[in-house]
Amino acid sequence: MFQTGTLRTKLKYIKMNQGEDDFEIPVPWFLIKHPAGNIVIDGGNAVEAAIDKRGHWGAVVDAYDPIMDRSENCVDQLRAVGVDPASIRYVLQSHLHLDHTGAIGHFPNAQIICQRAEYEYAFKPQWFSEGAYIRADFDRPGLNWKFLGGEYTDNFDLFGDGSVRIIFTPGHAPGHQSFLITLPRTGPVLLTIDAAYTVDHWENRALPGLVHSSSDAANSVEKLRRIASDTNAMVVTGHDPDTWQSFLKAPNDFYD
Ligand SMILES: [Zn+2]
Repeated sequence: MFQTGTLRTKLKYIKMNQGEDDFEIPVPWFLIKHPAGNIVIDGGNAVEAAIDKRGHWGAVVDAYDPIMDRSENCVDQLRAVGVDPASIRYVLQSHLHLDHTGAIGHFPNAQIICQRAEYEYAFKPQWFSEGAYIRADFDRPGLNWKFLGGEYTDNFDLFGDGSVRIIFTPGHAPGHQSFLITLPRTGPVLLTIDAAYTVDHWENRALPGLVHSSSDAANSVEKLRRIASDTNAMVVTGHDPDTWQSFLKAPNDFYD
């Protein structure tokens, strides 16, 4: 588990209608080592968010201000733990919001797996989510995309061994997906990503501050809660500043 710094924001931008208080959230991303090839999930913010945040992100920095050192980009963090960027076989995209697109285009041998609905929406977002999609991050030449098809490809088993499953969880974004990772010792780990930003979202006390469909978002939480209880998974929410502290994190710690 890694992070590309934090976002300084307000409570209402994370928890719908819950006020103007300052709120600072981590921007997590994940490396999974698998014998059949390494995986990056999301990659956090693009490095440009550390170099020229307003130039790259625009006015959205007034709502979500990235606090990120240049060295916190996903490629350099992988190198720091001895992982060669060329060894990344898959980049899994939960969705294409700006704090999740840092890996795209940085791993020469990777196939990028995303929901087709998310990719298509990202090129023509509605006004209320326009600021969250940075086209320069995902509209690049030479990318090797693979698109999943919502319900039809739900519970996609990436390696055919059940270790990495991709779960369709729309709502926060039209083509959002979450990940159920089964590790040899730790067992099942459910990465909700932004289907549940925080424990309050997980426990139905908040809707996302940025939401495509509240109804789908609520259904996706219900779906993930069922999966978590069926598998007894460890649950990792997308941006919870409190629980994030409690997880084992790179570069010193990891789950196996
Ligand atoms: Zn998001």
